[in-house]
Amino acid sequence: MIGAGYVGLVSAACFTEFGWSVTCVDKDPARLAQMAEGRSPIYEPGLDDLLQRNMKAGLLRFTADLGPAVAKADVVFLAVGTPMRRGDGHADLSYVYGAVEELAPHLDGFTVITTKSTVPVGTSREIERRLKAVRPDADCAICSNPEFLREGSAIQDFTHPDRILVGLDDDRARAVMERLYKPLSIRQAPLMFVSRESAELAKYAANAFLALKISFINEIADLCEVVGADVQQVASAIGKDRRIGDKFLHPGPGYGGSCFPKDVSAIVRTAREAKAPVSIIEQVSRVNDERKIAMASRVEHAMGGSVRAKTIAVLGVTFKPNTDDMRDAPSLVIVPMLQERGATVRVYDPEGRKQAEPLLPGVVWCEGTYDALA
Ligand code: NAD
Repeated sequence: MIGAGYVGLVSAACFTEFGWSVTCVDKDPARLAQMAEGRSPIYEPGLDDLLQRNMKAGLLRFTADLGPAVAKADVVFLAVGTPMRRGDGHADLSYVYGAVEELAPHLDGFTVITTKSTVPVGTSREIERRLKAVRPDADCAICSNPEFLREGSAIQDFTHPDRILVGLDDDRARAVMERLYKPLSIRQAPLMFVSRESAELAKYAANAFLALKISFINEIADLCEVVGADVQQVASAIGKDRRIGDKFLHPGPGYGGSCFPKDVSAIVRTAREAKAPVSIIEQVSRVNDERKIAMASRVEHAMGGSVRAKTIAVLGVTFKPNTDDMRDAPSLVIVPMLQERGATVRVYDPEGRKQAEPLLPGVVWCEGTYDALA
């Protein structure tokens, strides 16, 4: 498992629960040191227990040395970050291709190489091209196995997935992936084999659709406020329709996190380059940006028109509960806007504080809920 972050570490730990032997490779010495002690460097409920149990069983190891880990592996997962590229909003694939170039010299015997990272359509083909350029003799198959877990319930999501999606065009790789996921498929988790392009695009389409649901209900909430309807009642009424579903119909301060903002941006770029623009999805991120800004004004309105010299308590600043992940959290827009308008902001977030502190200067950090409220 190359990359031991929110996705790589959870996937690795869960694969060891199935009985597979996994070596996690990461470049970050601080993360490696913590993992070597059986402590997860990220906050994810239940993960420490899983790490400790499977390290003790001899199934889970951590290293910075990619070579031996790759040489012995039947499957190599790429679970490195694919953040938004500065300037053009595309997915930055430098970590993916960097890892591919590092691993190529170490391939030994038939190896399945599969992306778990979210990568734009066509990336498997490009990985294949780059590998062949360095190692024309390599016996390997490149697959796409996008991950759908959610931070905060990642272990449950990984072990009880709605589906496992594998994009490939190689029968030997299919046999390996069938065996790898057998512990889930025998429990009726749908294991879907599709083309690599379909798997890659399906991940972006899924995230874009979920982001769209959030922006949709946020706009309906705006309309409700003006016309005197209650958005909670509207959401639960429409959610009862099984064609719509009741998930992701919760109005809020806009979506954030490590996936939706960058993935919505990347699919928009892909579609524009393919000359098949996805105009609905383009609108989704615009609505979301406006939502975050409007949230600060709502707070102002609730406080009688101004927050100057007022003290505001904020409980939780991560992008959602049960994670310490601050990537693109709406709080990073809303809190500074309140500060700029003269408010003192007191925050309590027991898991998020470490990541949030450098990102939210000027905030008064509190030791508990009551401390923040006082
Ligand atoms: P992350 O930043 O938490 O972890 C990435 C890890 O990869 C880091 O620890 C980094 O040190 C390591 N790394 C980078 N280059 C490396 C290399 N050459 N060798 C070894 N290690 C290397 O990222 P994440 O949140 O786990 O996301 C990983 C991918 O999974 C992204 O493409 C993301 O879009 C996707 N994804 C994330 C989630 C989520 O909830 N976080 C869910 C589904 C999919």
